[in-house]
Amino acid sequence: MSDILPAIFFGHGNPMNALMQNAYTEAWRRIGEETPRPRAILAISAHWFVPGTGVTISTAPRTIHDFGGFPRELYQVRYPAPGDPALARRVQALLDPLPVTLDDTWGLDHGTWSVLTHVYPAADVPIVQLSIDETRPAAFHYDIGRRLAPLRGEGVLIVGSGNLVHNLHAYAWGRHMPDPYDWAVRFEEEAKGLLVSGEHTRLVDYESLGREALLSIPTPDHYLPLLYVIGTRQSSDPITFPVSGVDGGSISMLSVRVGAAT
Ligand code: ZN
Repeated sequence: MSDILPAIFFGHGNPMNALMQNAYTEAWRRIGEETPRPRAILAISAHWFVPGTGVTISTAPRTIHDFGGFPRELYQVRYPAPGDPALARRVQALLDPLPVTLDDTWGLDHGTWSVLTHVYPAADVPIVQLSIDETRPAAFHYDIGRRLAPLRGEGVLIVGSGNLVHNLHAYAWGRHMPDPYDWAVRFEEEAKGLLVSGEHTRLVDYESLGREALLSIPTPDHYLPLLYVIGTRQSSDPITFPVSGVDGGSISMLSVRVGAAT
């Protein structure tokens, strides 16, 4: 067993996955079972996309229900994992001299808890969330991942939560499940190839990857968490895809794991 934890990008998709048992959530549960138990988790969620870089400092981060129009039971979900102020300060130190706010207003948003409620159902691994500075270019986020890589050797599981392909305009809500759009499949295949071959520069410069990329990433929020995760990659790290599938035609549920699974 390696002393270096993997870093994992999860495609979180529909918030209702928090309440469901399906192929995605079963795969998330298996990831939790096979990954060496982390001391703490640093989560980068598409849904904390704000000006500035901040980390949650609370010892008891609240469960945030940051969506509208879902069934009442989804608003009743709580994910009572503790915080880890020492990890928040460690992140601040690693990113110095970048200003990193110690934030006591945010908590765990659904990008984090809808997945982790399956990965770690006991909610007993402390979590810190790191915000995505919406004012910065993609290369900035990749660079933060590089600077946070040492955490993987300190018992910290770095988790990115977004979706590689995330086009809600084309998404089919409800029971009608169409085939994935051709552009979604093509972009996912291209991105997987670039991930495996370690062509990070092209993934950072995703806007130059053509029409499929523009349709797959109409806004950067769900894509950028992937750049934090791959920024932690060391040259010997394998890349694997422990979850795959396209939901509603235009949401890729692909997970990307950097580093050995066990
Ligand atoms: Zn989302």
